[in-house]
Amino acid sequence: MSNDIMKQSLKSVHEGLVTKEFSARELTEVALERIETRNETINAFVTITEDAAREAADRADQMIARGEATMLTGIPFGVKDAICTLDVRSTASATILDNYISPYDATVVHRVKSAGAVLVGKQNCDAFGHGASNEQSMYGPVRNPFDTSKVAGGSSGGSAAAIADGQCFFSIGEDTGGSIRQPASLCGVAGFRPSYGRNSRYGIMPMASSLDVVGPMARTAEDIAFLMEVMAGEDGRDATTVSDPVPRYSEYITRSVKGMRIGVPKEYMELEGMDSEVRKITEENIARLQDAGCEIVDVSLPHTKYAVPVYYIIVPSEDSSNLGRIDGVRYGVQSGDSANLYEMYSVSRAQGFPEEVKRRIMIGTYALSSGYYDAYYRKAQKVRTRIIEEFEATYGVVDALITPTSPFPAFGIGEKKGDVLAMYLADVFVSPASVAGLPALSVHGGMTTAGLPVGVQLIGRRLDEATVLTLGHVLDRSR
Ligand code: GLN
Repeated sequence: MSNDIMKQSLKSVHEGLVTKEFSARELTEVALERIETRNETINAFVTITEDAAREAADRADQMIARGEATMLTGIPFGVKDAICTLDVRSTASATILDNYISPYDATVVHRVKSAGAVLVGKQNCDAFGHGASNEQSMYGPVRNPFDTSKVAGGSSGGSAAAIADGQCFFSIGEDTGGSIRQPASLCGVAGFRPSYGRNSRYGIMPMASSLDVVGPMARTAEDIAFLMEVMAGEDGRDATTVSDPVPRYSEYITRSVKGMRIGVPKEYMELEGMDSEVRKITEENIARLQDAGCEIVDVSLPHTKYAVPVYYIIVPSEDSSNLGRIDGVRYGVQSGDSANLYEMYSVSRAQGFPEEVKRRIMIGTYALSSGYYDAYYRKAQKVRTRIIEEFEATYGVVDALITPTSPFPAFGIGEKKGDVLAMYLADVFVSPASVAGLPALSVHGGMTTAGLPVGVQLIGRRLDEATVLTLGHVLDRSR
């Protein structure tokens, strides 16, 4: 079977499986073969689960034979390494968890596996999700399949690159401030951050608990719609999940978008320093929505400029507290050569965390310390409320927003690594929806003249995943 199959839609692969054109086992062998030949170059996988994948594929073939196949049965997928997977090493791409084998599956992983999908391995990311280039992985950066001298984006870079390179059909990623959408944009695939509370966070290694969400990455909005039907919904193990019914997204997305009002926030389009080709491609996609019958409305979101500063107070604060458990005792590799308990904690953490994680822990500990809490964390939460209110007011006028996903296409490995602020500014378009807990989708928008992909972002009302996926589907079909 040729590797071309790996670039087909879930619908057409499902068709091939249920009509017995090929088996789940054969499909899994194609994926494993591709991973094996490409991992040295792309470095998308930290752990490859060949044996378990073959067993899962055989079980999928039995499901198909019994007539119990779902859209995901027999489909090879990967999971970001900061998400727990039963009996499989889950490192978060930090050596402090090099030996950590999770005793359970995250809820979303469990749901996808129960539908018959085949886990082929754990995907490289910036350690504990901290970064936007995958250069903060302690297992080496992920390389962009479109140009291997460039980054794949981050933090879920391995997940995006693996799909783009035909190593799996979909991935489960995590997005605190863009980690699903930005690498999707840089690798030419689709990545979806659902509303906060739509998908269970149980089994996700926490970064900033009030922002973390887990979501699907795939080739198209249609594939994302199928995945969301399985992944979403209330979970007794995550009290922040909502009990609202999960719509049949895959049916919903075929509806007409005629008359829908789409906002273009001027603060996004006017950002200084945005790559000119990114602006041009975004404008082309706005025109495509217009051609499909949408009404384009200029809107203003003046608090947008505070999203990155608010994000970089709230995230390190919650981070410093969440990462306290990774201490070499409760979790993690313990340093052997320490004179006392304090030294053991400090040496284990010094060796097992990369630079960016240490930076966040220090900033967060400072921001939360006595006397500073009001000045930083509380203030940031107040501004966060203003950002939420501003979005809500805008959704009184429009049904969704369209913006670029990243201000630039993939950049060179090492090019921005030393420039911490430049890396934080990579989040400028993705952090507002994160801070506000809104659903946001990045779909492939077009290519630069240098042959690099550029994504566009659609941001919706809270819990209105359906509209965002519908618009994404319109853009996918208009390419
Ligand atoms: N660039 C963001 C950060 O470094 C991405 C985080 C995420 O979404 N996990 O915080």
